[in-house]
Amino acid sequence: MTGQKRTTERMCCACGTRREKKDLIRIVRTPEGKVTADGTGRANGRGVYLCRDAACIRLAEKKKAAERSLKTEVPAEVYGELESLL
Ligand SMILES: [Zn+2]
Repeated sequence: MTGQKRTTERMCCACGTRREKKDLIRIVRTPEGKVTADGTGRANGRGVYLCRDAACIRLAEKKKAAERSLKTEVPAEVYGELESLL
């Protein structure tokens, strides 16, 4: 080990920027198949990350980036929920 600080970097699925987890917001597909905005970052299931930025949320919606990654439909209200969590 080099003594480097361990970071938990994840990539924003809309713009591709790598950031620390705390600077990102998450969309999660729960084991029950429900897609939801995850404000805590700790929900169970497969997740995708987005910058805490309304522009990235809208871009993800436009590009269907989260849909592709989660392999399921993301309802429009999930994006609204994400914006309300910013
Ligand atoms: Zn982004």
